[in-house]
Amino acid sequence: MNIAKDFFSNSLQWDNLPKKIEYAPKEETILLFGGLTPQKERLLQAAAKSMNQEYTYLPNPDFASFEIGKIYGNKAQCNPTYFTVGNLIKYLLNLHKQGLSKEEIVKKYIHVTVSGCGPCRFGMYISEYKKALQDAGFEGFRVVSFDHESDIFQKASVEAVEFSPKFFIILTKTAIISDILMFLQDHLRAYETQKGEAQKAINRCEEKIIDALIQKKSLLKTLFSCRKILAKVKLNRLNPKPKVMVMGEFWAAMTRGDGNYHIHDFLLENGAEIIAQPLINRILLNIWDAKYQTIQKQKSNAKKLFDFSFAKKLFLLTLAQKAIEITFKIYAKAIGLNWYELDNMDYLANLAKEYYPLYSNGGEGHLEIAHIIDAAIHKKAHLVLSLKPFGCMPSSGVSDGIASLVTSKFPQVGFLALETSGESSINFYSRVQMALFKAKEEAIKEYNSYKISSKVPSFINNYRFYPKNDAISTAAKLLKYFNF
Ligand code: SF4
Repeated sequence: MNIAKDFFSNSLQWDNLPKKIEYAPKEETILLFGGLTPQKERLLQAAAKSMNQEYTYLPNPDFASFEIGKIYGNKAQCNPTYFTVGNLIKYLLNLHKQGLSKEEIVKKYIHVTVSGCGPCRFGMYISEYKKALQDAGFEGFRVVSFDHESDIFQKASVEAVEFSPKFFIILTKTAIISDILMFLQDHLRAYETQKGEAQKAINRCEEKIIDALIQKKSLLKTLFSCRKILAKVKLNRLNPKPKVMVMGEFWAAMTRGDGNYHIHDFLLENGAEIIAQPLINRILLNIWDAKYQTIQKQKSNAKKLFDFSFAKKLFLLTLAQKAIEITFKIYAKAIGLNWYELDNMDYLANLAKEYYPLYSNGGEGHLEIAHIIDAAIHKKAHLVLSLKPFGCMPSSGVSDGIASLVTSKFPQVGFLALETSGESSINFYSRVQMALFKAKEEAIKEYNSYKISSKVPSFINNYRFYPKNDAISTAAKLLKYFNF
């Protein structure tokens, strides 16, 4: 009896139960998003604005975000969790310091993020956000997510956030444009003769695209008009620079900041040309994965001969994939990006399947292994860097093990797996420098195997001119084309 009495008096403290929160009406709600690169976020913010959705993007996550994430997060998480969750808490604590009460913040703000399920910690992100927010004093703060397992036809609608198909289509188009700008930026920065010119030109193009999105002008015409701006950047493309493919776990390879020790800037400043991973690859991988799962389910569906719901799903997924591929091609052509083609996910899966079980879909799944083989047999890079956050299960735990077998079979491409622990950059940079030194030697050797004529046509430095042949570096490709 006493036990029951204690139980009721200790456990049912009605005053301690969470109070019902009166959230602010939609017009006063502020949507926060983050986790991509600042450039991508500025463009996506404009795209959302064109759909009458006001978004505010969080600042780029830095080491302070990482430390805050570690304070409020669970132990033994992978570091994108610490960086992104810590970044949100840091932002909210700053708002609080500026005078907003925690209650007001909880009522007015919503964080929109990406989540999913699956065998790695990605499935735990939303719980991590909730736990850290609660511990930091923001209990009841709303976090809503796009499910990365769903395709672009998902129709979730959450309170102040409308995830309509139209909204997703404009976001996807903008993500494609942001990838195209990223490729141009990396190429022009590698060969500019005056430091900073490329970035200025890219910034001007970005402003034009943002204006076109908000004013609902033609994106195609805007991209075409950027050609003039980009052509003014003076280049020296006969400089034999090694090509370095930066791939690996999605966030570690994509982010541009403390989360991967600014690896892209480091490589560019140390004489490399980089091939970064586009955001759209992640969407194409999701589509490929959804198709793969659908086909496997259809195969195991022994009772029915043919199920139209499977066929419909496959049709819609293929439609989304084709729409992305075609849109990328059209936009890339318009602005003059002639050297990059989106990865064909079926082809990459075929390359990897001998080494990596395709049904294992945590993190980037088989993609890291496929990239190594692809870079080796199609001479895409002198060096492949595979970045993985400290504690990443699919990338460190699985892909790295398989990579040691694959690189022994394809020794023609340099390979380096790097953990971004968030705590020690010295070891990281020193390992990159050693691998880069070897890649530079390879690039110079390749360059010296071609003759250089004194008559160099002026268009050789036109960024839109990019020959396709089996040389690796840009300089060697140009020399080979003219058969100097
Ligand atoms: S892929 Fe790795 S780093 Fe990314 S969420 Fe999963 S465990 Fe974490």
